[in-house]
Amino acid sequence: MESSLVELKRRLAEIDDLQRTQLLLAWDTEVWMPPAGERSRGAHLATLETIVHDRQIDDRIGELLDGLEPYASTLPRDADDACLVRAARRSWEKNRRIPTDLAAEIAGAQVESYQTWVKAREEAQFADFRPSLERVLELQRRLIECFAPYDDPYDVLLDDYEEGTKTEDVRVIFAALQPEITALVAEHAGEADQDDFLRGPFAIPPQEALSRELIERFGASWDAFRLDLTVHPFAAAVGLRDIRLTTRYDEDDLNSLFTAMHECGHGLYERGSAASLERTPLQGCSSSSLHESQSRLWENVVGRSLPFWRWLYPRVQTAFPEALADVSLERFHRAVNRPRRGFIRVDADETSYGLHVILRFELEQELLAGRLAVKDLPEAWNARFAELIGLDVPNDTLGVLQDSHWASGLFGYFPTYLLGTVLSVQIWETARAALPDVEEQIERGEFGDLHEWLRENLYALGSRFTPAETIERVVGGPIDPQPYLRYLRQKLNALSGSSV
Ligand code: ZN
Repeated sequence: MESSLVELKRRLAEIDDLQRTQLLLAWDTEVWMPPAGERSRGAHLATLETIVHDRQIDDRIGELLDGLEPYASTLPRDADDACLVRAARRSWEKNRRIPTDLAAEIAGAQVESYQTWVKAREEAQFADFRPSLERVLELQRRLIECFAPYDDPYDVLLDDYEEGTKTEDVRVIFAALQPEITALVAEHAGEADQDDFLRGPFAIPPQEALSRELIERFGASWDAFRLDLTVHPFAAAVGLRDIRLTTRYDEDDLNSLFTAMHECGHGLYERGSAASLERTPLQGCSSSSLHESQSRLWENVVGRSLPFWRWLYPRVQTAFPEALADVSLERFHRAVNRPRRGFIRVDADETSYGLHVILRFELEQELLAGRLAVKDLPEAWNARFAELIGLDVPNDTLGVLQDSHWASGLFGYFPTYLLGTVLSVQIWETARAALPDVEEQIERGEFGDLHEWLRENLYALGSRFTPAETIERVVGGPIDPQPYLRYLRQKLNALSGSSV
């Protein structure tokens, strides 16, 4: 019995090593690789994907699982070995349905498509990106067909990020959110020229110093973390002690501070997996929305709160006297929370953000179902954007070309941002109940107790359990949009009630 378990663990550890090597190459593609490296990188990633996929679907893994499942069923549900056997069975069954050449083709096509997207976005030319996107979409459709029959083609892709969640579950949650968010934006949105001081100038070196300090204060250490520049910020866990965060700086805004907090939240989650889960499929987090709950918790629930800014604002004001010398803490805090109609999702305020996600969720369902052609996508985007956000999109860089996800084949990912935002408030409220003085600590720039609570109660679990089980364990119930809506209403009412 033991030797089967040892063999399974060795095979799974090798797969994990190869996948993290792929991740390192993907990180490099977006951070350091010269543009002409695209061709060879596509080949590297496609070759690695062939090796990974062949190992994932090896008959031997199935034999080992058949032999181990009777033993695993005698263990407590939360025992590491029981969780490992469950996760390995799920991933083996799923991967067996995908032909290796399709998996490799998808991996290779995404490198080309990402580079094409970068250029098309710079030049606001959707037409240049269209053939790549058509190819990516075609490959996604072929992938979906591997899982026929299905109720909804979108379910197949969503399951990769949110095991067990159905498209219909997401529609129900978003249907509860959309009218409420729309009403809050209508009631509280600022004018375009309001809060002009948020347009800088903000010199880059102090932005970088503050970003790095926030990441440290939240609990990251530089022996296990890096921070680099990219076009579209993200975080990648190359290893349990090798966490790559990325960001971007602009003299015209302070978004980099929120990006640093956001990506740090992702990184802390990855870094917090129990050491016993390292090099297993259980290292890391059980769903993308749970991952996002942590980036949003640190970026928004902590990083846009008044206690947080009572601590940080004097330093930010000193670092950027030209823009902020005459701006009070209250004005600044209101400005970084005020709903504002804007074009860019990643720059959106905490309230209107959800509408940007709902737009993408709707459009990608249409694309995948074949009801919307890629050539008609910009027009569909602009029309729905005007309905949801109330602005006319002036060009594709500010519209359909702004995100890298579709170029990278990440269809089905967008809804996890809003689900994660909803969860961030449920998790925060649970943490605050356990740590009654957490807001006083934040006001002193102390984040250790909060980080430790999250690590113990959430991060350490890794992906031992399904997303729904993990949520139940952490907050004591299912995902629920009401705490998030209540939080937004309270915050916006408090802001409009105060002076200035
Ligand atoms: Zn994120």
